[in-house]
Amino acid sequence: MRMKMDARCDRSPSNRNRFIVVAKCLRAASPSSAAGRPGPRSISRDHYTRGRRPVRDRLDGYGGKRVGFWLDAMTIHTVLTNTLKLRVPLVMGGMQWVGKPALAAAVSNAGALGMLTALTQPTPEALRAAIEETRSLIDPQIAKERSQYGAFGVNITLLPAIVPPDYEGYARAALEAGVRIFETAGSNPEPVIKVLKQSGAFVIHKCTAIRHGLKAAQLGADMLSIDGLECAGHPGEDDIGGLVLLALAAEKSPIPFIASGGMANGRSLAAALALGACGANMGTRFMATRESDIHDKIKAHLVQSSERDTVHIMRSLRNTARVYKNKVALEVIEKEKQRAQFADIRPLVSGQRGKKVYENGEVDAGIWTAGQTAGLIHDIPTCKELVARIERDAEQVMTQSAALITPSPRL
Ligand code: NAD
Repeated sequence: MRMKMDARCDRSPSNRNRFIVVAKCLRAASPSSAAGRPGPRSISRDHYTRGRRPVRDRLDGYGGKRVGFWLDAMTIHTVLTNTLKLRVPLVMGGMQWVGKPALAAAVSNAGALGMLTALTQPTPEALRAAIEETRSLIDPQIAKERSQYGAFGVNITLLPAIVPPDYEGYARAALEAGVRIFETAGSNPEPVIKVLKQSGAFVIHKCTAIRHGLKAAQLGADMLSIDGLECAGHPGEDDIGGLVLLALAAEKSPIPFIASGGMANGRSLAAALALGACGANMGTRFMATRESDIHDKIKAHLVQSSERDTVHIMRSLRNTARVYKNKVALEVIEKEKQRAQFADIRPLVSGQRGKKVYENGEVDAGIWTAGQTAGLIHDIPTCKELVARIERDAEQVMTQSAALITPSPRL
């Protein structure tokens, strides 16, 4: 059933046929309105749909009045959604101990791109089993829509590790299990990107510096994930915030990019698109969802947290990580002030210890990763609710932004 309704009245996620008030943006975009005259009724509708399915609209005239038109399953289309057949330009970031099958599948089933984290699995064989489990949880319709590259991806992060992982083994296991979308991150990705590209995979390389992104593009990465200082985990050592990094990427990146770090809601997604990105990557936000397999107490803790509750550790070792500001993190920082070496802090920062935080719900049990977006997390929705809300809010913000452009009289 198609109903005319005001987006402000019905904000339910299922309300896909939305009545959008767009008077100002129609006027602003109209060629004649630029000259200060009311626009013609015969304005090209393609202008507003830009490659979307045809809008079955009913223009009520828009010469300065509120107007609306029917939008049938309106979505934001970008090179990210078009290439990977996503319904929403949103990617779940790799998250150690969090990027597991149930969450990755839920994010993909919600229309975004779910991501398994390879190193969360103890061996490449275990990763293969996790891939099969994820696949079994994917909605058949989503699997059909994404038949070219698959419904979800695998993150491979290349950073110093206490027990150096068999990165290529993980990459090959994922490829053999049929995965064709990868998020790589960290240093020296050349060997892994090479293996992935030889198998025709789509590689999104996450980086915290433009120079690293340019290198990854040379190596054959298909897309960059530009990770600002606000991010959870490893932000690099340059301390450049997302606003500047993304604007620089828009100037310099030879390949499309998504925005990572500081992304948590529809406003973030709209801002990412305004900065030239073709989508947004979110990590911490997906931790606080119903399908995330971390302890409920940690999810509740994230909801109560503010943007000031994270801290950088391991800066003195040039392996900076943004983590939750708990007792262990503060102890690590104290030791770093006393010029501690990695061996001195290893028992504190060990991932095996941090894993217990998520399993037992004890906030101070070890180091756990969180981004500044903790301050933007206010609830624990399902992935479906969250993704629908982000999409709807992003559309609303973009519509409002477009409406700021109003005709000016010619002097
Ligand atoms: P781990 O137990 O091997 O190491 C714990 C922390 O110490 C990590 O931050 C690691 O980078 C750092 N570290 C290890 N050896 C080091 C050394 N010699 N010098 C300086 N720092 C050192 O880590 P884990 O929890 O088992 O995770 C495995 C790897 O995957 C780590 O490198 C981790 O950072 C990485 N990872 C990061 C993300 C993310 O940033 N979002 C996601 C997935 C994986």
